Amino acid sequence: MTRRTPADLPARIQHYIGGSFVDSIDGDEFDVLDPVTNETYVRAAAGKKADVDAAVAAARAAFTEGPWPRMLPRERSRVLHRIADLVESRDARLAELESFDSGLPITQALGQARRAAENFRFFADLIVAQTDDAFKVPGRQLNYVNRKPIGVAGLITPWNTPFMLESWKLAPALATGNTVVLKPAEFTPLSASLWAGIFEEAGLPEGVFNLVNGLGEDAGDALVKHPDVPLISFTGESSTGQLIFANAAPFLKGLSMELGGKSPAIVFADADLDAAIDATIFGVFSLNGERCTAGSRILVQRDIYDEFVARYAAQADRVKVGFPDDPATEVGALVHPEHYAKVMSYVEHGKTEGRLVAGGGRPDEFPAGNFVRPTVFADVAPDARIFQEEIFGPVVAITPFDTDEEALALANDTKYGLAAYVWTNDLKRAHLFAQNVEAGMVWLNSNNVRDLRTPFGGVKASGLGHEGGYRSIDFYTDQQAVHITL
Ligand code: NAD
Repeated sequence: MTRRTPADLPARIQHYIGGSFVDSIDGDEFDVLDPVTNETYVRAAAGKKADVDAAVAAARAAFTEGPWPRMLPRERSRVLHRIADLVESRDARLAELESFDSGLPITQALGQARRAAENFRFFADLIVAQTDDAFKVPGRQLNYVNRKPIGVAGLITPWNTPFMLESWKLAPALATGNTVVLKPAEFTPLSASLWAGIFEEAGLPEGVFNLVNGLGEDAGDALVKHPDVPLISFTGESSTGQLIFANAAPFLKGLSMELGGKSPAIVFADADLDAAIDATIFGVFSLNGERCTAGSRILVQRDIYDEFVARYAAQADRVKVGFPDDPATEVGALVHPEHYAKVMSYVEHGKTEGRLVAGGGRPDEFPAGNFVRPTVFADVAPDARIFQEEIFGPVVAITPFDTDEEALALANDTKYGLAAYVWTNDLKRAHLFAQNVEAGMVWLNSNNVRDLRTPFGGVKASGLGHEGGYRSIDFYTDQQAVHITL
């Protein structure tokens, strides 16, 4: 198959501030690369402090003077539903652009576009269903909760599934009546620029949504340090999260941190092996392995270890690497040459730390671009770097264990604690394991699917705070207590 470039790619990617597309005040731009060729296909405005100041001023004015924070939840909900309708009606175009910009397989990018629509629909419904507490002390006092939007929310997002992850922050921030400044990842700014048109068409008032492109250390940093931005919702690497935490400290900002992971998938000997293999293949190779909840360490009970490794390696070899726009592709191109170099350095290092049973380099049929064969290392020791460090690519480490206690110790033996996947037909063992594993989210005999009402987030170095359902509403609102003496 030959590769198709989407029609009508933009000539430039700009900021969107106070209802208008604008360039950077100093005119600076940065290159955006096509991950299949690593050639620059567009240049994007490189925001600095002055651009962030302008965006925050527009968002602040929309918050203090505009209608959005003062609208009834039902009215805001209607706008959010219209946004969901528009995203749904443009899912094919969104997926095409996202896949082109990020290298994600087109079928998976389409799923992410639909999920973005669903995020808006979900928070549109939730904000109307929202109830707040009221407490009576009979004959003496009435107490009630007055929930209020906080102000300008700074939203900083990564390059994996960019449009969907932006929607996961934009939808609750807007549903609750805040105004926003979004700083999308510099590797993948294309889909974020579509929000402006969608929001305008849906009737979101001017100034409520603002977008500043640029590098993390410039635009992201200025947003984190802006005194008029009381909230930062950040998704990205744990080390960036630590820096943002420190930079936000002098301002005592509200912080939500969705960070990295090195999540274990534990396969016990009594598991349904077919289902476990399918799910653990999907768990680390879907989304090019660039998935925060990837099950990138597989712990397998020794009784079935050899069979598992042989079958897993054979199935990994069958995962189809291809051009991102090919509907048959299961692993596309990694997002950027810098990230490709990082993943490849782990692949090379892994050859000294484990037994290579599948993949191990670039596929012969793709001499250029950021393509990596699905790579499987077996017999990986827990102190290996490929066991401990987040690779964020199609690379998995498999390690044997004997007892439940050993499996738990191995599962918990990293600094991360985002997700865990357990495969066993013993119900009691599954629930006990879930209880003891250090992970914000556990899937028992299950693929990575979840109801949007559940908490999403990690423990240890994987995050701070939870989003999802009412937890997102809580993050983006102040709950003022009002007390009345009767
Ligand atoms: P990153 O931390 O490099 O960048 C994320 C965002 O932060 C980008 O927009 C970047 O420009 C910005 N940024 C960088 N330095 C900054 C600074 N000093 N101040 C303010 N902003 C700054 O992460 P990435 O490489 O884009 O994304 C991959 C990481 O994201 C992985 O670790 C992955 O696990 C994590 N992730 C986590 C979740 C989750 O929900 N837990 C979801 C997706 C991705």
